[in-house]
Amino acid sequence: MLLATSCALAMISVPTTAWSADQPKTTATAAGKAKPAPKATPTPTPKPVPVDCAKVKCIALTFDDGPGKYADKLLDTFKKYKSKATFFLEGQYVKSRPAFAKRMVTEGHDIGNHSYSHPHLRELSEDKIREELTKTQDIVKKSTGKYPTTIRPPYGELDGRVSAIAAEMGMPIVLWNGGSRDWATKNEKAIYDEVLKNAKREGIILMHDWVEQTVTVMPKLLTALQKQGYHMVAVSSLRGAKDTKAGDVYPVGSEKDEDLPSESPTGDPDDFAQSPSDGL
Ligand SMILES: [Zn+2]
Repeated sequence: MLLATSCALAMISVPTTAWSADQPKTTATAAGKAKPAPKATPTPTPKPVPVDCAKVKCIALTFDDGPGKYADKLLDTFKKYKSKATFFLEGQYVKSRPAFAKRMVTEGHDIGNHSYSHPHLRELSEDKIREELTKTQDIVKKSTGKYPTTIRPPYGELDGRVSAIAAEMGMPIVLWNGGSRDWATKNEKAIYDEVLKNAKREGIILMHDWVEQTVTVMPKLLTALQKQGYHMVAVSSLRGAKDTKAGDVYPVGSEKDEDLPSESPTGDPDDFAQSPSDGL
């Protein structure tokens, strides 16, 4: 825990080294006019050191149903806290908010496939399941330049056909082992308390970037998690995720029906009011 905390602090302090104090911004001339200082050699941005979850306490915060309308603000927060997230995107919202999806990829977050229109996959034919998933793969690739690398089926519902199709598409299935109930409570304190209650090393927490209160409480939540020594990483950085094969479910055990609908939002009602014409 000490290591994790000092690590986080060290990372935060990097950009404020002597650099800013020692570099004159302008040079005064005889006429009293300021002219720009000679061009300094640009300081290379230090490459972020990958977090090693074997050495530090990691947790993965995941956001479903997006890109939601508050994704931009959420990304600002993750940037400020030097943290990573995983976004399970719906193709229909990638279509309406491609810039948000692109920003997620550019800023190093993981992107997963959460179907195109959030149906109950178990009620669909195999062809329809395939269509929901491939349409989303294609639109994410078109918008961000990258294909999603994992699938999270809507409502966490899957069966043998969904697993077989995921295997065929070369992607593991990622569920969760801790909820936030953000979609139900829509209350900052309740979301904060629930996430901290469910936080554990290597945990995967389910949240939604269309819930305004989730996005608003995030700075406070990330502060609290960092104080507890957590490093917020994308799912692919978790130790167990690295060994998960296409078609397999991660975290192990979360596919059991009795364990699952601890949290199974009925979709994203707020987003149904949004359309590609909502300006985002
Ligand atoms: Zn969902």
